[in-house]
Amino acid sequence: MPRGFAARQARFARQSPILRGMAGVNWGELYNQFKKEKLNATKLEAEVKELMQDEDVTKKSGIYPYVLTRQEKHLSIRAFTDRMKREAYEGQNGVCPFCKKQKKDKKQWDISEMEADHITPWHEGGKTVAENCHMLCKKHNRTKSGI
Ligand SMILES: [Zn+2]
Repeated sequence: MPRGFAARQARFARQSPILRGMAGVNWGELYNQFKKEKLNATKLEAEVKELMQDEDVTKKSGIYPYVLTRQEKHLSIRAFTDRMKREAYEGQNGVCPFCKKQKKDKKQWDISEMEADHITPWHEGGKTVAENCHMLCKKHNRTKSGI
């Protein structure tokens, strides 16, 4: 399997115009790290194509490392703009929904004390758009333990 996969991977990288430009990806290192994983080159290619078209993926060179490691940091998922944050903040009247749910004494925060969060997480199909933005207090954004 590993030899076959390496060959397919090399062919894939050569033939696929979307991957050809990916300079700086350490293919050898990634391959060594993941050679024991059962990877399906066809499925991977389909996913890579989809991610290439995803406007929220701002770092296209991170796609290959991402599909192997599943670490979203590689993709630099698009951040909400200041305008989206401000609109969400005003719509919530400065209240952190998690603080509210947990009936905290302090629910209302200054915008500088809050951070934007995807209501539906990106990996579950949530996009970086105003409708999917809410503001959480910094503590809850770090822990995401609102439920
Ligand atoms: Zn909170």
